[in-house]
Amino acid sequence: MSSKIIVVGSSNMDMVVKSTHIPAPGETVLGGDFLMNPGGKGANQAVAAARLGGKVAFITKIGNYIFGHQLAQLFGEEEINMKGILADANSPSGIALITVDEVGENSIVVAPGANAHLNKQDVITKLKAYPAAKIILLQLEIPIETVEAILRYAQEKDIRIMVNPAPVNKRILNLFPFIDILTPNAKEAEMLSGIAISDIETAKLAASEICKKGVKEVIITLGKLGAIQVNKDGARHIEAPQVAAIDTTAAGDVFNGAIAVYLAEGKTLLEAISFACKAAAIAVTKLGAYSSIPYRKEVLLANT
Ligand code: ATP
Repeated sequence: MSSKIIVVGSSNMDMVVKSTHIPAPGETVLGGDFLMNPGGKGANQAVAAARLGGKVAFITKIGNYIFGHQLAQLFGEEEINMKGILADANSPSGIALITVDEVGENSIVVAPGANAHLNKQDVITKLKAYPAAKIILLQLEIPIETVEAILRYAQEKDIRIMVNPAPVNKRILNLFPFIDILTPNAKEAEMLSGIAISDIETAKLAASEICKKGVKEVIITLGKLGAIQVNKDGARHIEAPQVAAIDTTAAGDVFNGAIAVYLAEGKTLLEAISFACKAAAIAVTKLGAYSSIPYRKEVLLANT
């Protein structure tokens, strides 16, 4: 199969209710609008890469009933190659129950469901079906044993591997030498480096520390400050376009998907980061996760 970008990760059905306030323990609130969209870092990054022009396959595990079928249908509509989608006969699909209040604060409970059963045998079998893969993109919402098996497979097959270490799992520290590109946000970079980040300079220090632990390229995303890229040869700062941000949900996922797309096209990492900053800046000007993921045309036409 000709997919060049393989995203391996979680998929959830996000169920969002708007509410005047987040309910206190024991309280029932009569909420407002209800939305149901695909979510999970894996799904968001796969959709982002597809909308931004990548030939994407998504390896994920969904439940075998109700939300699973809806998720599969939505991924198909995004022109994501569906052959990597596994169904778990014994678990429901992952779901996230999200309450958003009037000032945009949220509370979220995730039931990982089938995501917790995305095992290494399943994934490696699926990966072998994509001989044209140029880059594999991972996050940490799937079992860490599966992450480790994918890293070893990518090294053996000489496929570039990019890890977005969210949420942080300290066991990833032992796997750093397998990782080509690591993309923590500031909080994750602090946890992985032990260095507090308060500005660009401290972010560079944290990234250098992570490089010393074995990762080849570290990109730390810094919200409206953009991103920094560090490797053994030095550090650079890439500014974010200035925009009126209204909701940063999924900005990091758009950033990661965008990097994978440009790298799969043979562009440099610097070109990829600039493209990612533009794409993520568009995402933060729109509400929601799924609905804020931009298409390639929008990014290329953007006046930023
Ligand atoms: P999230 O968890 O909300 O998806 P994150 O914490 O993983 O995001 P951030 O560092 O907040 O990641 O943002 C990722 C990228 O999005 C940044 O590197 C930047 O390019 C872009 N971005 C985020 N916030 C803004 C902003 N206010 N203005 C412009 N670009 C932004």
